[in-house]
Amino acid sequence: MGGSGLFCRNAWRILRSLVFLEDRDMSRVRMIFVSLAGALLLATGSIAAQATADDWHAWIDLKAEQDFEQVVEWRRHFHANPELSNREFETAAYIAEFLRGLGMEVQTGVAHTGVVGVLVGARPGPVVGLRADIDALPVPSRAGLEFSPSVFSEYLGEKVPVSHACGHDTHIAMLMGVAEIFAARRDELPGTIKFIFQPAEEGAPPGEQGGGKLMVAEGVLNNPDVEVIFGQHIWSLAPAGTIGYRPGGIMAAADQFNITVHGKQTHGSTPWTGVDPIAVASQIVIGLNMIVSRQTELTKEAAVISVGRVRAGVRNNIIPETAELIGTIRTLDTEMQDKIHADIRRTAEHIAASQGATVTVEIERGYPVTYNDPALTARMAPTLERVGGARTMQINAITGAEDFSFFQKEIPGLYFFVGGMPEGKDPAEAAPHHTPDFYIEESGMKTGVRALAGLAIDYMLDRAE
Ligand SMILES: [Zn+2]
Ligand SMILES: [Zn+2]
Repeated sequence: MGGSGLFCRNAWRILRSLVFLEDRDMSRVRMIFVSLAGALLLATGSIAAQATADDWHAWIDLKAEQDFEQVVEWRRHFHANPELSNREFETAAYIAEFLRGLGMEVQTGVAHTGVVGVLVGARPGPVVGLRADIDALPVPSRAGLEFSPSVFSEYLGEKVPVSHACGHDTHIAMLMGVAEIFAARRDELPGTIKFIFQPAEEGAPPGEQGGGKLMVAEGVLNNPDVEVIFGQHIWSLAPAGTIGYRPGGIMAAADQFNITVHGKQTHGSTPWTGVDPIAVASQIVIGLNMIVSRQTELTKEAAVISVGRVRAGVRNNIIPETAELIGTIRTLDTEMQDKIHADIRRTAEHIAASQGATVTVEIERGYPVTYNDPALTARMAPTLERVGGARTMQINAITGAEDFSFFQKEIPGLYFFVGGMPEGKDPAEAAPHHTPDFYIEESGMKTGVRALAGLAIDYMLDRAE
């Protein structure tokens, strides 16, 4: 297994680290000794797998520490230069150049502006996918930092301020940090890593395709075939240094429904001569609420049905011909999702029929459930626990949606959250994602780099055994 060669390289690295070590804090020194111990064990060839894992972990921790300023610099560059979904041209060019500089084979223009770098390790092993989304939002930035953007772009024919109000800038920087870590030890890497920089997570502009769905359709998970995929989201409402994960549905499927009630138009003074679609639509709204509260097994998973728009009629004394309801459905389990869709159709049709009206129900599937494969999650939980220690926790599901789910529909995947809130801040005071005061405590990225890199190497080593 090339023990002595590995030892020489490690010894050199460790020596170099010691020589150039400026702030000799204890944790770093401890990491170096762990690394040294690992290298010695490898050199003697007495312990194989465990020592290799320790050696890799020490290397990741050391690099995450040493490269942190660089990761911050990347993040600030992207933060200052945000680009909207499917328009991430400069962002993509910057990433592609960086990956090429690491000696990777790089593919650009995937799903319009996506970038994929393939790092083929010198040792045989599985293909692991790591994904970061790269788009910004039409939200102004009020954080007032020296690297805050003053960028305007066109969105739906309007000039809008743009910012990284969801923190995807940190996702790019963290994945670049991970790429740096593994590219430096490619000769020992037991497998291949596909670095997937995905555009348009927030949704392609109307009339366009994009995001994770299009990347999958364009074959990003093939050639070489990706076996497993990991992704993370920074979270402005959880303290930096924390990690949150959950087996099963961690983020919801988001589907849209349109219900049109067809009645019979008549004079407002004589409702019995027509069929009132407004009265029927009102009953349907109540009926939809009964689905979640009375017919859904909420102890299994949460679910939400919300009507977001009701539209009917033109004036006070006309009962109109039609009424329209549109809304959103959030589910965390695909079986429940299918059942709720059927329940909505049945409820709307039967209420309409009971009043002599008819109804058209259209349900459009959006992002699927972000579903963490339970077996994979159980297998990788020790990695997240090692990285976050007591600050790694299982969290409740989030009823927002995430298009990482399109990758997880094809292969097992694990999606988790890393904290990005300043220590000691009250989450109730922190600005949520997608708002102008959105702020990220950058030290949270160190945890993200270690977690993502840890998952990749632990999976590879586990498979190599
Ligand atoms: Zn977002
Ligand atoms: Zn996001």
